[in-house]
Amino acid sequence: MLSMKDDGTLKKEICTIAAIIYEKGFVVATDGNVSARTADNCILITPSGQRAVTVEDIVKLDLDGTILGCKQNPSSEYRMHIEVYRRRTDVQGIIHTHPPYATAFAVAGIPLEPIIAEAVFANGKIPITPYATPSTEEVPKSISELIKNHGALLLAHHGLLTVGKDLLDALNRTERVEFLAHVSFLAKMLGNAVPLSPERIEKLMKLQK
Ligand SMILES: [Zn+2]
Repeated sequence: MLSMKDDGTLKKEICTIAAIIYEKGFVVATDGNVSARTADNCILITPSGQRAVTVEDIVKLDLDGTILGCKQNPSSEYRMHIEVYRRRTDVQGIIHTHPPYATAFAVAGIPLEPIIAEAVFANGKIPITPYATPSTEEVPKSISELIKNHGALLLAHHGLLTVGKDLLDALNRTERVEFLAHVSFLAKMLGNAVPLSPERIEKLMKLQK
């Protein structure tokens, strides 16, 4: 499925989302990256190592990673984004962030369980990918299998990856995962992060259908 939006519209959306993830503290400094699939099945992605992003800074790449005209270099994690677009034809937008609570779970090696009722159908369980050195070929390999069946992944000792049918969908996912991680952390501090029973989960899944 390709985007119905033109490149100009998608570039503006990417800039808006990049500003939001910074404002919300999901990334610090020049971290994180945002991309969208275009109508001609290429990708638009935020540039490497830049804090404030304007539409002129957005880099266009084909799905082989060839740069199609922009003075900036693409985000160092562009290989991870390309891997997702190749694996998931339904995905139109991708956001990579380092939200503190979700990243803490990724560091502790604890997958996020859907202990909040709404989290069951929002994202389900959020697994942790094997460790990969950021910005290398190891990263696309580490997400390749798990991304087929998940909309959100914790990247070990690194951060969070979310995908969506558009960028807003991916942003909603990012926020929900960080909220779940925050609540999970607090419940663990209270000494009782009670899992939802299989019966309750089944009932919620029926509701979703
Ligand atoms: Zn990162």
